[in-house]
Amino acid sequence: MEKSITRLPQTDRAPIRASFEFFPPKTAEMEQTLWHAIERLAPLQPNFVSVTYGAGGSTRERTHATVERLVRETDLRPAAHLTCVAASRDEVDDVVRKYREAGVHHIVALRGDPPAGIGTAYEPHPQGYATSTALIEGIRRIGDFEITVSAYPEKHPESASIDADIDVLKAKIDAGATRAITQFFFDNQVYLRYLERVRAKGVNIPIVPGIVPVQNFKQTASFARKTGASVPQWLAERFEGLDDDVDTRRLVAAAVAAEQVIDLTERGVRDFHFYTMNKADLVFAICHLLGLRAKPERKAA
Ligand code: FAD
Repeated sequence: MEKSITRLPQTDRAPIRASFEFFPPKTAEMEQTLWHAIERLAPLQPNFVSVTYGAGGSTRERTHATVERLVRETDLRPAAHLTCVAASRDEVDDVVRKYREAGVHHIVALRGDPPAGIGTAYEPHPQGYATSTALIEGIRRIGDFEITVSAYPEKHPESASIDADIDVLKAKIDAGATRAITQFFFDNQVYLRYLERVRAKGVNIPIVPGIVPVQNFKQTASFARKTGASVPQWLAERFEGLDDDVDTRRLVAAAVAAEQVIDLTERGVRDFHFYTMNKADLVFAICHLLGLRAKPERKAA
């Protein structure tokens, strides 16, 4: 008889902590979808929820409005993403001060993509923060924020090497970052090897894996190509022939993400950051598999 796989009960392990990333909605309909997702995921009591900042600073007001509403109407701890793109230092500082006044204490600090698009050379705003490190220093001058940054297990496309990328991560930590969230990846070995290299270089902050449930394989693969994340052949094969079959695609997506996170928990990972794409169902199901259960909310979402 075949030996069965031994899985430790979740109760025998340190608890799992999840965080959820949303993007600010463009229309009233998208706003409804977002808040439906927030209401569904809120009872899982995430470590924090983050709201992205559009390319070129295009969502400054919408990001702010979404984060403020999270503070006002929920018990969730929001983190506001902020980039250096297309804004002077004064403008960025103003955004940071407004967050402080709104009671937001956590910023995901990023340089941002080149204003002319991914793949072009990055040109900082003449009066702006030139790097994420400079941005972190600026934020720290304004207030005592918790600062999360990005990390790239397969290196940032503009970096010369993974080592150069880790040096940038170290500079961000020296400036005040206390957590990093990774670019998404599909092969857990990529993350685990990166973690080993980062730890060997003396980096001790949490490097939280960014997990993307593949809602749409074609879109994810195209985004991955731009950001330097590799898409394994086995993943492409799993979604093969499903372009017009949304229901099966969703089931496959759930299975793929579940397999990925369960494998990571078995290697000791306890913190996960989910790129939700403002949709709750897949992420909720994956969190359930991880042992996270809804708890009653203290404040209505
Ligand atoms: P960094 O880690 O700062 O590095 C970017 C490049 O600059 C690297 O090549 C690095 O080597 C170089 N560099 C950095 N600092 C220095 C320095 N001091 N000296 C010399 N070179 C340096 N984009 C958005 O527009 N909005 C978002 O909300 C957003 N959220 C994200 C969340 C996560 C978790 C991740 C992983 C990415 C996110 N991005 C977002 C994408 C990000 O803005 C792009 O990948 C961008 O190109 C790099 O910004 P960064 O802060 O990640 O880069």
